[in-house]
Amino acid sequence: MDKIIALSKRRGFIYQSSEIYGGIAGFWDYGPLGAELKKNIKEQWWRDIVQKRDDIVGIDASIIMNPKVWEASGHVEAFTDPLVECKICNKRFRYDHYKDILCKDGKKHEKENLSEPKIFNLLTEVFLGVTEPKQKAFLRGEITQGAFVNFINIIDSTRIKIPFGIAQIGKAFRNEITPGNYTYRSREFEQMEIEFFITPDNNESNKWFDYWKNERVNWYKSLGLNPDKLRFRKHDEDEKAHYAKEAVDIEYHAPFGWSEFEGIHNRGDWDLSRHNLKYKDPETNKEFIPFVIETSGGVDRSALFFLIDSYIQEDKREYLKLHPKLAPFKAAVFPLLANKPELINKAREIYKKLKQSYMVSWDERGNIGKRYAAQDEIGTPICITVDFDTLKDDSVTLRDRDTTKQERVKISEIEKSIDKILL
Ligand code: ATP
Repeated sequence: MDKIIALSKRRGFIYQSSEIYGGIAGFWDYGPLGAELKKNIKEQWWRDIVQKRDDIVGIDASIIMNPKVWEASGHVEAFTDPLVECKICNKRFRYDHYKDILCKDGKKHEKENLSEPKIFNLLTEVFLGVTEPKQKAFLRGEITQGAFVNFINIIDSTRIKIPFGIAQIGKAFRNEITPGNYTYRSREFEQMEIEFFITPDNNESNKWFDYWKNERVNWYKSLGLNPDKLRFRKHDEDEKAHYAKEAVDIEYHAPFGWSEFEGIHNRGDWDLSRHNLKYKDPETNKEFIPFVIETSGGVDRSALFFLIDSYIQEDKREYLKLHPKLAPFKAAVFPLLANKPELINKAREIYKKLKQSYMVSWDERGNIGKRYAAQDEIGTPICITVDFDTLKDDSVTLRDRDTTKQERVKISEIEKSIDKILL
């Protein structure tokens, strides 16, 4: 974990928010490479969920909504965590996390030293307007509700029919009692979610629940997450969120233990009935309240686990074996020598052309070995070197990040080679 944190800062994946003022607990900034990684995860998700399917449409709802939404959804009443204080070290944390947080003596907390749990709402309050009294509203605690409140708008404007899904990616905010484990538990984070509407029937909901469980875990595997470090964990009865009839987490075996990064929930008809919304079957004209299967993934937790999972230290080599689709740069271009204008000019020409289609890095510092190491460290799958032969035969050396093998390729074939690894 320490190595990932150091590398993330050094190379520009993740910085502490407002670091020059001492930071602020639970908030993080993504640097140039982290922003690319997150963007790639979101783009890949959108492509697979919205672009490639006929039964899911995408939306982008607002972060602040009418506060009545959160009353109806049950969040004002039930979106809570129990807070306790340790009588010895005075630390405050979530009651269900007490075994994970260490006391003054470095030992685990004991139940008998904790105060009575106090219930604490996770919604973050904001105040709108300039004149008193200001209007109290909330930053959304989950992006989900935007899909429900637009349910009728979406059906009317798209004519989509059940079974269908509404997909969304966006920021959510939770006043977490104990943010921690790096970006894992933040107060501001991004979610990528599908609310999938089906006929209200238990067999249907079991079928779609299993379908989405498998789809989602396979998606992470297809992007390279190690299957041995993935598992499903079913929620116990007393652990389920207030809206959930059934809940399963997809967990990753992180250095800090098995940890959820996506939840699959059967929300039944909880939300639509609380918002008083119904679906009218366009063929039979029969009205009913659909059931909803939700898949709710965290962009930040996925980014963290992709980083952790791809980190490889082998002999003297350290590299990120990120799937090329997720890697911040798809290729790096080097002139063999930095003091030969003819090499630089040729390399710049190739670099500029590739940049029209891909994120590409340029490096002319140090020797080739150092440049390879620097690109390995950030997961660039292909390095392209322009040398004296390039000037004679229009070929370059392509070096593969994972195998370190090198091959000679014509300049006209470089894009084909990059496209091949992005399939
Ligand atoms: P936890 O039990 O860890 O608090 P949760 O069960 O409350 O999480 P959900 O409400 O199911 O989480 O949210 C769906 C997803 O949103 C999570 O799987 C996670 O990826 C992401 N998420 C939730 N809370 C946070 C957070 N505080 N920081 C970063 N990501 C989060």
